[in-house]
Amino acid sequence: KSTLYVVATPIGNLRDMTPRALDVLAAADVIAAEDTRVTGQLLKYFGISKPMVSLREHNERSMADKLVARLQAGEIIAQVSDAGTPGISDPGAQLAAAAHAAGIAVVPLPGASALTTALSASGFDCAHALFYGFLPPKHKQRCDAITSFAALPYLVVIYEAPHRIIDCLQDLHEVLGADRQIALARELTKTFETIRRGTLAELLAFVQSDSNQQRGEFVLVIDAAPPAEQTDADEHDHVLAPLVAELP
Ligand code: SAM
Repeated sequence: KSTLYVVATPIGNLRDMTPRALDVLAAADVIAAEDTRVTGQLLKYFGISKPMVSLREHNERSMADKLVARLQAGEIIAQVSDAGTPGISDPGAQLAAAAHAAGIAVVPLPGASALTTALSASGFDCAHALFYGFLPPKHKQRCDAITSFAALPYLVVIYEAPHRIIDCLQDLHEVLGADRQIALARELTKTFETIRRGTLAELLAFVQSDSNQQRGEFVLVIDAAPPAEQTDADEHDHVLAPLVAELP
């Protein structure tokens, strides 16, 4: 039966591949990969040989139509990205949307994602978290984006690349202040994995002082904004006014 499988792959350590993901990749008629060379290496490691097509940001729309036609003809398609879960700051949403529109089953295979991996080790209360993904590359727009979530009572998760990590931490420090708590997760599941928590001032100094800490891939988990200080007017609205209303 034609099905689009959305398959998570490891974010570093290949042993994080799930047995079910291997079953589906082995059973698929075709694998839609972000970069066929990257996925080719993964398949080679697991001894799987399959036809692949490239589904990237710039061709996702046109390729989605072609793949839906193949699904309608009865094929099984497995979609993967270079690392982690497709559709999470990666191509995937348009193909899944096109499959839904055509009435084709979309079956997710859960596995690694830098998002959940970093959150799980952050030690923050994850009851409420906002996944922001990549911030804008330029200083002004990045500071505007940080300002947009600065006061939210939710954790905020950011993806960052090595060549921008210092600029990004400096802008977070500028907008959120030196004392906001943050967890930095670098090279998750890989040899030089670093997970460190502290204030923005501490982590900026830590990364600036060691060029090794500026290499690799990063997830930043920013603690929720502290509750705003109550003003007398707030106290009147929320505490005194209901009490007064109860008076005979
Ligand atoms: N779809 C992927 C996922 O589910 O995590 C994310 C793809 S996005 C293009 C790549 C970004 O994810 C990197 O720039 C980094 O911020 C984060 N990332 C991916 N692998 C990571 C790792 N092993 N350690 C830390 N961050 C990682």
